[in-house]
Amino acid sequence: MSKGVGVLALQGDYAEHQRMLARLDCPSTQIRKASQLASIRALILPGGESTTMLKFMQEEDLLEPLREFYEGGGAFYGTCAGAILLARTVTGPSQPSLGFMNIDVERNAYGRQVDSHESFEPCPELGDERLPMIFIRAPIITSLGADVVTLARHRDEAVLVRERRILVSTFHPELSTDTRVHRYFLEEVA
Ligand code: GLN
Repeated sequence: MSKGVGVLALQGDYAEHQRMLARLDCPSTQIRKASQLASIRALILPGGESTTMLKFMQEEDLLEPLREFYEGGGAFYGTCAGAILLARTVTGPSQPSLGFMNIDVERNAYGRQVDSHESFEPCPELGDERLPMIFIRAPIITSLGADVVTLARHRDEAVLVRERRILVSTFHPELSTDTRVHRYFLEEVA
């Protein structure tokens, strides 16, 4: 039997990601322990609060197993806080991260007065229709490595990017009704 898809379920909006996967007829497992990583091929890191998620990941001793999972061929999709956890360097304020993706991010970078906002932006890779983008206390990707491909932009910033087996969005497709980003992750990345 082929391996499944997991959603890190320590904190944040993992249930919304599972709902999205279910709409694509993809069953998913809630991942809370290192031993569960053996049963999956791809892992979604949800939106939420990256500092809290990181603390729980450290408490559960998940950091090293996640590195082994990645180096063993596992795929990742990180949304917002999940993107922060996957980034090489985090500022605003700075904190440790998994660092699997060659991007630098600045947390809460759209400013205090715009806690959340919505936009519709082109994403040719996913079809003609603009992609709905919900940003909640979102980070900005301040630099991208040479192998990072930008799939969509918002206000001149890259907001949906891919580096081989890792997909990252600074917005939340799981809070919209548009399944295209999750479908792309399942079909092209994972
Ligand atoms: N601001 C949060 C953080 O820094 C991320 C917000 C989100 O995931 N919507 O972790």
